[in-house]
Amino acid sequence: MQSGAPGGTKGTDPTVLLGTIVNPAGLILAKTVPQVRVPAFASPGLGASPTWHAFAADQVGIAFTDAIGVVGDQRIRVDLEAMHTLDATLVWAPGEFFDQAGAPVPQCARGTLRRVVDSLGRTGLRAMVGHELEFMLTGPEGQQLPAHLWAQYGAAGVLEHEQFVREVLADCHAAGVGVEQFHPEYGRSQFELSIEPRDPVAAADQVVLARIVLGRVARRHGLRVSFSPKPFADGVGCGAHQHISLMQDDQPLFSGGPGPTGLRALGANAIAGLVDAMVDLQGVLSGSVVSGLRMLPGQWAGAFACWGVENREAAVRLIRSGPATPRGANVEVKAIDPSANVYFATAAILGAAALGIALEMPLPPEVTVDPATLTDQQRAEADIAPLSADQRAIVDTLDASTTVRAILGDPAVDALVAVRGYEVDNFPDHTADTLTERFRLAWSV
Ligand code: GLU
Ligand code: MG
Repeated sequence: MQSGAPGGTKGTDPTVLLGTIVNPAGLILAKTVPQVRVPAFASPGLGASPTWHAFAADQVGIAFTDAIGVVGDQRIRVDLEAMHTLDATLVWAPGEFFDQAGAPVPQCARGTLRRVVDSLGRTGLRAMVGHELEFMLTGPEGQQLPAHLWAQYGAAGVLEHEQFVREVLADCHAAGVGVEQFHPEYGRSQFELSIEPRDPVAAADQVVLARIVLGRVARRHGLRVSFSPKPFADGVGCGAHQHISLMQDDQPLFSGGPGPTGLRALGANAIAGLVDAMVDLQGVLSGSVVSGLRMLPGQWAGAFACWGVENREAAVRLIRSGPATPRGANVEVKAIDPSANVYFATAAILGAAALGIALEMPLPPEVTVDPATLTDQQRAEADIAPLSADQRAIVDTLDASTTVRAILGDPAVDALVAVRGYEVDNFPDHTADTLTERFRLAWSV
């Protein structure tokens, strides 16, 4: 950042710091400061009400709980070590919640992920995470764009939005977002930005930064970016898949082992932990009131709690190492959508994998076919649970989950249950059409 005027109180330095947090409803909330106030934003932080944890995705509601009310005040502190420059006068940094005495606030998602990563580290494990951001371009009020020229993953999508594509790549590069690829997706006006793997907190930060870049570029073109799990009732869903690799003493856990999958014993335990916890995790990974419209078989959304090598209908897809996967083996958790809080989602996944390792959970059999092609009886015999599309049941399962409570902590789970329960309670009679319309831009920036 350029230095400001002498004394820092007056002058012409137009630099602005945008500090964001992601709340339990998956909303990216922000405060901005002029350059002179950046140190104060880092410590002691800027005041914010505990209600920030309860702001709901309908853009008006607050899901109050016993712990989250109008009384009290907290501090958002930006992490200046994670700061990135968006342009000559705008910088961004992720924030975390602390109380006024400086203690971490347990509903804070970034702080929760940091704690999960630290406890993983204490058992000698290190994780890397790579994110996929699927989104749909819309008009400024969320209108469907004409897409007469569109093929699934088609070059037409690039040419229709060539300048948008160029600017996204250029601005991501300038901001330090590590883009692996950017391509038109299956759905009309749908794209995917894949981001290179980083350590879990930095990787989640990259998602927030990339969403801001996408929002800024889209606006320049009079467009908006929908991060709804199901932007249009009759269209394709948007996922937010996460690719996880785990290492112990720099040895990868998902490759180098005996057998056709290459899994080492701990890698097998980790996948077992993920599959075992998947039903409980749904409220964290795909818990919004719109999520159930995506979480269906045939959508490549991973709608079954099972695993398989390169199986795109399994909630957990193993990607084996080989010459074609220079980054090595990893597991892709597909049952995540962009309405999830990305920090909580990673924390929940890593916690479930760590639990599988700690309890030496046995790996269930690999599923080598589309689970939807099996009969109910075959799925029951193979212990393959379909993930639910009933959001009330998903929220109740999360509420009752001792597993997720052990990973994220009670205050975080209570906040997630509150915001997701609010959505279910307040939109009971909506149809797919009205629900998708109401929430189309809910998670946009
Ligand atoms: N759009 C799909 C989803 O909702 C994923 C498609 C893909 O695998 O790229 O998760
Ligand atoms: Mg995709």
